[in-house]
Amino acid sequence: SDSHFPVPISPSQFDLTLHYPHYFPSPDKSDGSKKIEFADIGCGFGGLLISLSTLFPDKLMIGMELRDKVTEYVKERVLALRTSNPGQYENVSVVRTNSMKYIPNYFEKGQLTKMFFLFPDPHFKEKNHRRRVISPHLLDEYAYVLRVGGIIYTITDVEELGEWMTSCLDGHPLFEAVSEDELVADPVVKLLSTATEEGQKVERNDGQTFRAVYRRIGSCVPH
Ligand code: SAM
Repeated sequence: SDSHFPVPISPSQFDLTLHYPHYFPSPDKSDGSKKIEFADIGCGFGGLLISLSTLFPDKLMIGMELRDKVTEYVKERVLALRTSNPGQYENVSVVRTNSMKYIPNYFEKGQLTKMFFLFPDPHFKEKNHRRRVISPHLLDEYAYVLRVGGIIYTITDVEELGEWMTSCLDGHPLFEAVSEDELVADPVVKLLSTATEEGQKVERNDGQTFRAVYRRIGSCVPH
């Protein structure tokens, strides 16, 4: 249960020295200017983060994962990569948490520039839709922690869930769909279906995927 993992009471209490010792050798040596910018929600085994780490070597990124064993696996994976590639993978880490409850405990308003929801659990039954990681209510929280211009990336192999995520995002006043031209130009988009363990499974089975990529916009958009 939640009592088994610590949750910071506010983003300033989130101890980055444990996660990124290369950037934060000790709490007093940090000037607070370097912040986590990417969050992979329900990161699973961490494949996306590992790919993003070298693609964006200057950005700090974190996976949020509910399962204890899976989180430990990702931690070990990152530590092993740091050891075998000195100087690399220092910008990536993982935390065990319930992202549906605690996002604002980890990130300040407007802190994130990218959020990822890749192959989230579908929760098919109507009464379980409130457990979905994309919902109108949770989008309010994601809009809060995302900077204006920041991007939310979602992908699923479950058509109904894809439609649900798209309709939640379409219905939210602080998100707008990213244009097809921009999607083609964005190197991150290719990784959505290829970099994660779940995405690779779907590709192996020639499964269809449904993507929704939206930008955080300001509340007063000039027309
Ligand atoms: N994104 C990964 C991928 O594409 O390979 C994993 C997809 S897996 C189907 C969904 C993951 O979300 C699982 O690892 C699960 O433990 C995690 N998860 C589910 N609910 C969560 C929550 N409330 N907070 C954090 N992680 C959660």
